[in-house]
Amino acid sequence: MKRRGVYSLRGARNRALCGAVLCLLATLLAACVRTALVEPAGFTGTPRSLPPAPDVPEPYVVALDAGHGGYDTGANALVQELAVCEQTVDALFALLECDPNYAPLRTRPNGEDRSIRERAQTADEGGARLLLSVHANSDESTRQSHGFECFPTPPGRVHSDEAMRFALCLAEKMGAAGHRLRGGNGVRFAYYNGKQKRIVDSTDDKVRTLKSFGIVERPNCPAVLAEQCFLTNYADVEQWTGEAGCARAARVYYEAICAYFGTQPLEDETRL
Ligand SMILES: [Zn+2]
Repeated sequence: MKRRGVYSLRGARNRALCGAVLCLLATLLAACVRTALVEPAGFTGTPRSLPPAPDVPEPYVVALDAGHGGYDTGANALVQELAVCEQTVDALFALLECDPNYAPLRTRPNGEDRSIRERAQTADEGGARLLLSVHANSDESTRQSHGFECFPTPPGRVHSDEAMRFALCLAEKMGAAGHRLRGGNGVRFAYYNGKQKRIVDSTDDKVRTLKSFGIVERPNCPAVLAEQCFLTNYADVEQWTGEAGCARAARVYYEAICAYFGTQPLEDETRL
């Protein structure tokens, strides 16, 4: 009993000593870890506690093509087509430029001639993901025709499905803005047989080898040619040309581009 008591006393001392040593080691270890994690004074690198930089998506490059320019004035009716093309592209360019989701580019400077091949090449070299060619229609024979229609890259081409999707966005937004949609839904295909132009509704999705408009055939991206209105019709001219009419059309095109890419359009300041 006595010996056991001596051993017990020694054992208790040893255990206490071991505990103190372990405690000291733990304290030293904790201090080492703290020193390793905390940056030294005067550290100028990236602090480890900051999260990684967020992925900022690249803006979408959208090519805007004024359908006429320079000596090529387009249709001359109640209003000159060239003026409608340039005014609308100017207004749309300004809208897209304000939106960080987009990087607009022009396929030609205002007032200058450029062939379709050159304009398509400008879009390609700029990395365009989408091309919109702005035109206006005319019907000298009856002066009754009116409304909006647009022509995507026709069926059977690399980008035809996406071009059709964009064309439907354009037509839907134009319809919502109160414009009449021609050909049932505002989307049609155009083909040239020699110099003869043939227009079919979008329900006719037969793949043809006949060429469509060069500006929807040539670029390496989905492309749509829009006929904004009829320059031979008073009501169309009043609503969709001039500074206010072109700005209105540009806003519709802008919202259609946002719908196509799935981005939120910026507030319409003209409505505030
Ligand atoms: Zn034209």
